[in-house]
Amino acid sequence: MRFQSKSICMRYIVCEKPGEFLLKEKENPKLQAGEAILKVKKVGICGTDLHAYSGNQAFFSYPRILGHELATEIVEIDDNIRNLKVGDNVVVMPYISCGKCIACRKGKTNCCNNIKVLGVHTDGGMQEQISVPIDLLIPANNLSDDQMAIVEPLAIGAHAIRRAQLTKGEFIVVIGCGPIGIGIMKLAQLGGVKVIAIDVNQKRLDYAKEKIEVDHIVMGGANAVAEIAAITNGDMATAVFDATGHKGALESGPDYMSHGGRYVLVGLSKGELVFIHPKIHAKETSILCSRNATLEDFEHVIAVLEQGKFLIESFITHNVGYHQMIANFDSWLDPANGVIKATVDF
Ligand SMILES: [Zn+2]
Ligand SMILES: [Zn+2]
Repeated sequence: MRFQSKSICMRYIVCEKPGEFLLKEKENPKLQAGEAILKVKKVGICGTDLHAYSGNQAFFSYPRILGHELATEIVEIDDNIRNLKVGDNVVVMPYISCGKCIACRKGKTNCCNNIKVLGVHTDGGMQEQISVPIDLLIPANNLSDDQMAIVEPLAIGAHAIRRAQLTKGEFIVVIGCGPIGIGIMKLAQLGGVKVIAIDVNQKRLDYAKEKIEVDHIVMGGANAVAEIAAITNGDMATAVFDATGHKGALESGPDYMSHGGRYVLVGLSKGELVFIHPKIHAKETSILCSRNATLEDFEHVIAVLEQGKFLIESFITHNVGYHQMIANFDSWLDPANGVIKATVDF
């Protein structure tokens, strides 16, 4: 009889069904060709995870291990030409693209026809170890665990900025002071852009002003257009970003935009949007959607973080160990608790 080595078990958290997480155990992953086994150090919680838990994420199947904002370290790795080795800190780009479709052939892997996102379409990082294709790993040895865990949400913002091709000195409006909006604001500001933040929550606006140091804050609603006109000397913003995904906010975006401007839709709503055609036509509006991010965006964000230009304290507002996550998760859904970004230590 062959000797069978005792398998080693690890902990993981699975979203069994809407409203229910379970802490379970299973065998550690085994190394596969072309893959690396990663020790998960920290997981950032994002809107997608909150929606999946609340049961209002479209096309989502349960049970699912969530988590796609990952700070990890390589514990085992197949031979690779990228010089990645055991002990390296790596950020995971959680988008698995096919490499064959028209979008991939054009380098737009972020909107691949067959895209699968770790922690959404396949199991993600809420586990002590995860096996991931080496292609998805980006070395980040100079980053702390906190910094690694926020690369993905910031890369979403970096991609949106790249879609708009911002240049120094522009006035932009960013609607929504959540983690994605704040990422856009800070990254744009570091690029020499003047930022006007809009939100309907005064606390979040104050946060954007005090912690992110945006140039102007404007309360959403009836007076917003007049206030932005006053700030921009009547020009309005040459680029507007929606980072809310709310229909009303999304439809208001072109009102804040200058003639000849760009409107970038980052937040995703569920249904149709209505724009008055003569109004968007008169401004020759460029409407751009921004989805996920590419390697270039991740590398840009890692470089910004390496230079210490993005303060972690202004972004991660809540952190717990994985044993406490299930007990705390409901509280992160409540806007009154002021969560910008919650993270979980594994
Ligand atoms: Zn996310
Ligand atoms: Zn593809």
